[in-house]
Amino acid sequence: MALLTVLTVPDARLRIKAKPVSVVDDAIRTFLADMIETMYAEDGVGLAAPQVGIDKRLVVIDISERAPGTALLKMVNPEITWRSNELNTCIEGCLSVPELRAEVSRPKAIKMQYLDENGTLQHIESDDELATCIQHELDHLDGKLYIDYLSALKRQMFINKVKRMQKYQD
Ligand code: ZN
Repeated sequence: MALLTVLTVPDARLRIKAKPVSVVDDAIRTFLADMIETMYAEDGVGLAAPQVGIDKRLVVIDISERAPGTALLKMVNPEITWRSNELNTCIEGCLSVPELRAEVSRPKAIKMQYLDENGTLQHIESDDELATCIQHELDHLDGKLYIDYLSALKRQMFINKVKRMQKYQD
């Protein structure tokens, strides 16, 4: 297994629309394992492939620390098939926008489908924190970040803060 480098804003690779995976093979399974290792190392609850510079529709999620009993999800070509009209507001953060958080409103409940690591079609319904997390991660596959839901002013402020933080690290 290998730790991957998580890209941060304003890296243009975070804005690419990721491509569907055609075959779930050993290379994909190894990559999903690397994504999980990276997510845990970075203390994240979710990670999408574009965040590590790979334009494939792959997402891993583990919110079991906050919501005990929730399974570790490894999702290939995930797709939301239904969204509720009712919204829910949560405080979100993102490994690609480190150390910052903001409130975002999204549909409260969703239905979704994806291929698991064996290539088997799976379905999920959620109306809690998992629904928020899934929507956040799936946005990454379309080049969208949670800061896009904020005002232009606040978004730019967040990006500038991250840029400044990166400068100190380099
Ligand atoms: Zn994110």
